Amino acid sequence: MTKMNVIPEVKSGESLASYIYRLAEANFYVSMESLLSEWKMRVRQLEKNVFTDSVLEIIMGITGVEKNSIRQMSSQYFRCQFGDGFYKKYVIRNQHKYCPECLSQHAYHKHDWMLEPVTICLDHELLLLDACQGCQSKITLRGLMTGACEGCGFYFSAANKEKISDPFLVESQKILQNQLLNNEIIKKGALKGLDIVGFLKLARSCSYFLQGNLSFVGKPIVIEPFYKKNVTLNNEMSCYKYGNVYWIFIDFPINIKKVKKNFDQLPNRYKHAKLQMAKKISSNSDCSVLLGKIYELLDKPTKARVKQTKKIIPVLKKQRKQKQACAAKDNVVITNDLVDQDCITREEACSILGIIGKEQMNRIIDSGFLILRKYPKGRWFLSKNEVVNFLEKYTGEYKSFDNGITFYGALKKYSQSGLSMVRLLSFIRESKLEPFRIKKGGNFTDVIFQSCELKRCMNDFYKIKYERKGYTKSELLKLLRMDFFTIDALEKRGVIKASFEKSKLGNRKIKMYDKKTIEDFQKRYIDLKQAAALFNVTILHLRKLIWSGVLHEALPGITKKYIVDVNETRALLVSS
Ligand SMILES: [Zn+2]
Ligand SMILES: [Zn+2]
Repeated sequence: MTKMNVIPEVKSGESLASYIYRLAEANFYVSMESLLSEWKMRVRQLEKNVFTDSVLEIIMGITGVEKNSIRQMSSQYFRCQFGDGFYKKYVIRNQHKYCPECLSQHAYHKHDWMLEPVTICLDHELLLLDACQGCQSKITLRGLMTGACEGCGFYFSAANKEKISDPFLVESQKILQNQLLNNEIIKKGALKGLDIVGFLKLARSCSYFLQGNLSFVGKPIVIEPFYKKNVTLNNEMSCYKYGNVYWIFIDFPINIKKVKKNFDQLPNRYKHAKLQMAKKISSNSDCSVLLGKIYELLDKPTKARVKQTKKIIPVLKKQRKQKQACAAKDNVVITNDLVDQDCITREEACSILGIIGKEQMNRIIDSGFLILRKYPKGRWFLSKNEVVNFLEKYTGEYKSFDNGITFYGALKKYSQSGLSMVRLLSFIRESKLEPFRIKKGGNFTDVIFQSCELKRCMNDFYKIKYERKGYTKSELLKLLRMDFFTIDALEKRGVIKASFEKSKLGNRKIKMYDKKTIEDFQKRYIDLKQAAALFNVTILHLRKLIWSGVLHEALPGITKKYIVDVNETRALLVSS
């Protein structure tokens, strides 16, 4: 049993490792190793502030400090308090940081300096330092406890100090250190109700929108990704990240709109990836509601994106702009009524509905969704009342939605498969697809569908499309139970015919086998099993007829199994 002559007092917020260093020093141990070897412990573990239960008991025996109090000074405390995920991500174990003012005054290491989210010393409003200013190398605990860098001998207390006065940076740290790390939840503002784990998840989610931006608070430094594995600690970056997240929510949603401005400039696939990642992190967490709000804002199409959407609507591409006053042909009513307040132009209707282009409007009219009226003097109007009713009916009810596909998203995704706006509206009309509005009020830009429902509609749509035309080769293989070579051989002989059609995606031609020809083929050419059943004879009997040359193989050299012509077989069997 280790005996000590001097038992120092535990200092406020001190880490256990720091205390052990001071204990060894007070009792004139030559080195830490000599003390630790008595406890079967390594310096590496001490650097991480990790202690086994038996060592905790030894320390309790020596110092008389209660075991629970000792445990609270070790890194395990963070694991017990905030969980495994927190411990792995946010407790730094391979390097150290410190407040130069604290260190020069008291010469001990604080437990909270081991946390990535703790970035400022609130007592001194100084940025914690995470590297030796002499040689830029990582700081070790042993170095900190002796006061000088193990690499170059730089005195840590002599380091240049960086005062942090930006209110967002300081406030975010106050919330983190004084509330969240004390196991309290945030009490007010948009972040109300979040605990430490919720806040950190939210911060990581938000990092996907913030990274690459210049910081919105403090100095204009570029914000880096929040959490990267195996990357050296960057305390200043951590400080700015949490400061920026705090800033987003201190004035919500004004500030996130500033982030959105830059976010909108990104290519779509980056945006999509970022939104997905953010969503993944925050799912099943307290912060998912907040993130949902951000998501909704960021995912909303901008004017620029609406312009893009215009490009992708296929009918607009193909259709030449018509020069007549009215391009709508059907569903036009001629009236002698006077123009009144209910009359609106197609352009006005477009803006109410959130639809771009008169041509699109004309298609909607042609398809019978709305009536266009011709008033005297060749003026054309829609009824505002009818337009509003149409909007109500086809945009569905308000519902908050966190996954699904938007109206324009659907058009974009399936436009090349032949989905047009009118077709999409028809799905709704036929009650195959239920629209929801993600915003109260709102128009078609706020409409969202359940992805699976839309997929089902599209599958039905494909089926109808191809039923008329014929079979693909793979469908034919299954249908005739033949292999590729047989099909090719049949085609060469002209027994079945194929034609080329545009594929679903329109980007290549696809071979389609005419349905009628295939049906005729199936009726005429049958295998022995089918023939036996049809004419009520045994398969063996048929085989014998073929072997004896009475019945002929219908497709010799093409099929592996015997195929006979139904007419020939009938003639033979019925006459005999
Ligand atoms: Zn300090
Ligand atoms: Zn150094």
